[in-house]
Amino acid sequence: MFLTPHFTLKEMTFSQAAVRNAVPNDPDPEALANLRLLCEVLEQVRALVGSPILITSAFRNEAVNQLVGGVHNSAHRTGLAADICAKAMTARQLAECIRDSSIAFDQLILEFDSWVHLAISLDNPRRQVMTVRKGTGYLPGLQ
Ligand SMILES: [Zn+2]
Repeated sequence: MFLTPHFTLKEMTFSQAAVRNAVPNDPDPEALANLRLLCEVLEQVRALVGSPILITSAFRNEAVNQLVGGVHNSAHRTGLAADICAKAMTARQLAECIRDSSIAFDQLILEFDSWVHLAISLDNPRRQVMTVRKGTGYLPGLQ
């Protein structure tokens, strides 16, 4: 099922950890509605960078979030965050493009120089930008 023209429910809920452990990862109606909003923002990102966007992890229910270590706050749990890469550029380039755009994100985190955590907000998007690496933890901005 497509949530928007280029993003499917399957890719927004897929989790290797969930499959491996035979744990269902189905969103409730509220999370599904959030995922639709998230996909609309991902469509903006796709158009911005002119490249397909790969979703490495988006929705995680409580069980799946625990399976993967529960490192993130609750944005993935409610369907308001996705970890993404772009086929045509590095994670840093993708993060820079989104940061420099007018896209209304809540939180943008360049994670381990390998993917971008993009979270949206239902009310007031903060446009908070951070970088996280092993050893340094969370730093402000793109470092
Ligand atoms: Zn994330």
